[in-house]
Amino acid sequence: MTKAPAVIWVKRDARLTDNACLVEADRLHLNALPFFCFEPSLLTANDSSDMHIQAQWQAINGLRQGLRQMSSDIVIAYGEVVEKLTKLYERIPFTHLFAHEEIGNNITFRRDRAVAKWCLDRGITYREFPQSSVKRGGVNRDKLQQLWRSRIADIQPMQIPRISQPEELRALAAKTAFPKLPQFTTKQLWQPVSEADAKATLTDFLTVRSRWYRGGISSPNTAFTAGSRLSVHLAWGTITARQIWHAVRSRLADLDPNDPLSSRWKQSLNAFLSRLHWRDHFTQRLESEPDLEFRSLHPSYRDVPYENDERLHKAWREGRTGYPLVDAVMRCLAATGFVNFRMRAMVVSFACHVLHLDWRLIHPHLARVFRDYDPGIHLNQLQMQAGVVGWNAIRVYNPAKQLADWDADCKFVKRWLPELKEQTAEQILNDELLPSYPPRVVPFAERAKKMTDQLYGIRKTAEAKMAAKAVYLTHGSRKKTTSKRPKRIKRPAPPPSPTLFDNLDDNPDLS
Ligand SMILES: Cc1cc2nc3c(=O)[nH]c(=O)nc-3n(C[C@H](O)[C@H](O)[C@H](O)COP(=O)(O)OP(=O)(O)OC[C@H]3O[C@@H](n4cnc5c(N)ncnc54)[C@H](O)[C@@H]3O)c2cc1C
Repeated sequence: MTKAPAVIWVKRDARLTDNACLVEADRLHLNALPFFCFEPSLLTANDSSDMHIQAQWQAINGLRQGLRQMSSDIVIAYGEVVEKLTKLYERIPFTHLFAHEEIGNNITFRRDRAVAKWCLDRGITYREFPQSSVKRGGVNRDKLQQLWRSRIADIQPMQIPRISQPEELRALAAKTAFPKLPQFTTKQLWQPVSEADAKATLTDFLTVRSRWYRGGISSPNTAFTAGSRLSVHLAWGTITARQIWHAVRSRLADLDPNDPLSSRWKQSLNAFLSRLHWRDHFTQRLESEPDLEFRSLHPSYRDVPYENDERLHKAWREGRTGYPLVDAVMRCLAATGFVNFRMRAMVVSFACHVLHLDWRLIHPHLARVFRDYDPGIHLNQLQMQAGVVGWNAIRVYNPAKQLADWDADCKFVKRWLPELKEQTAEQILNDELLPSYPPRVVPFAERAKKMTDQLYGIRKTAEAKMAAKAVYLTHGSRKKTTSKRPKRIKRPAPPPSPTLFDNLDDNPDLS
C-alpha cells in the first residue's frame, strides 16, 4: 500500500516553478498528488465566463504535460470541492492538503473556509502558502514594504522540486479526464495561458518589448505589444510576481551603461516594477475587506443614486453608445479579453459618471470580458474609477479627448467598429458619423456634471471627510504622492516586428 500522500490542491497556481506546495511535499518526503477541480459554483458565477474557464483549462493542461514529463500526473475533477475531496479521501486517506492562498471573490472566500473546516474535522493537516506579499487576514499598511522584501525581493523563486508519485497514484490521476463543459468555446484572439507561455512572454517582454513600455502603454494601439501582457499569467498563477521581479532585476543589472538606449530600458522596467507593487497593494485591500465586492470602501458612497437604466447598460455592454472609443473598447474586450489600463479606466468612468450605472452593476460584465480577471485589482479599480473611494481625484475621462490623444488616426476605432471603416479620421474625430452608427445615447458634459456634482456633494460633508481619513489610514498607499501631473513623455515608435503579439494584426474575429 502506497504511503498516504499530500494532496496539492491547484487553484489559480498552475505551475511547477516557484510552487511552495510542491516544495513542501518534497521537504517532508511525502508523495504528492496534485488535484484540480472545476467547480460548478464558480463556473456559473456572474463574474465567470468562457474566457476564464478556457484560461484555466489551458493552464491545467499545461501543468498536466509538465507533470507527465516528470512521471507524475494530476487528478482532474468536476463538482464542488468539498464533495470531491471527500470522494478522494475515501479512496486514498491522505494526511496533508497543501494549497496557495487565493484572494478571490466571495464564493472562493467561503469555499476556502469550508475546506479548512473539512480538514480540521478529519485531522488532515491543511496548509496554505502565500504566493504574493499579501498578508492573510489584513496587515498594518506600514508593514507592506517589509512584507514585499521578505517574500518577494529577498527570496529567489523556488526551483521545480522532485515530485514523488508512486505508480498507483499516477495511474489513478491519469484516468481522470477534463470534463466536457457546456458552452465551452475557444477564440483565437484570446491570449494563451500556461506556464510555458508565461515564461516566453516574460522573456519576450524583457528582451524586446519592454523598451517601449514607458509611453507605449497608454494608447490602445501600442499597449498590446508595449505592455508586459503578463496579467493573464499573474491572474491564473502560471507565473509569480517573485519570478518576474527577479528576472527584471537581473535584466536591469545587465543593462550596458554605454548603450544609449539603456536609460529608456531602465525607466520602462522601473515603471513596470511599480505596477507589480500596485497589484499587491490592491489585493491586500480585498484581503482585508472581503466585502469590497458588494460595497464601497468608503461608507459615505454606498448609496449614490445611480439610475441603472437597462437600456444604457445594454448599449454599453454591446459597444453601441454612439461614442466611438467607448464602443471600440467594449467590442475589443469582448473579442480579445484585453485592453490597456487607460481604456479600462475610461469605460468605467463613462459607465458610472455619464451613463449613471452603479459600479456593482457593471462589475460582472467587465469581469467576464477580462481574460486577466483578478478580483483584487478589479474591484479596487472599479471603485477608484467610479470615484467612490473618497480620497482619489474624481476623474472623468472624456472619450472624445481620449480619442484625439491616443488614437488620432482612428486606427483602433476603425478596427473594432466596421460601421466606421469607410470614414476618415477627421470625420470620426469631428463626430460626423454615418447614420448606420448609433447616435449618442446621452449627452456627455451635462450628464458627467450631474454625477460629479453628486460625488463632490458627498465628499464635502464633514462625515465623509472624517471617514475618508480613517479609510485612508487603514487602506491608503504609504507612498508620497505628488499633486503635479506626471511629465508626459515622448511616445516611442512602435516595436519592430516580430513580437509574440503581432498576430493581433490578423483579421479580427468580429462575430
Ligand atoms: C477598471 C479596471 C479594472 C482592472 N481589472 C484588472 C484585472 O481584473 N486584472 C488585472 O490584472 N488588471 C486589471 N486592471 C489593471 C490593468 O489595466 C491591467 O493589469 C493591465 O492593463 C494588464 O496589462 P499588462 O499585463 O500588459 O500590464 P503591465 O502594465 O505590464 O503591468 C504589469 C502587471 O502589474 C499589474 N498592474 C498593472 N497595472 C495595475 C494597476 N493599475 N493596479 C494594480 N495592478 C496593476 C498587473 O498584474 C499587470 O499584469 C484593471 C484596471 C482598471 C482601470
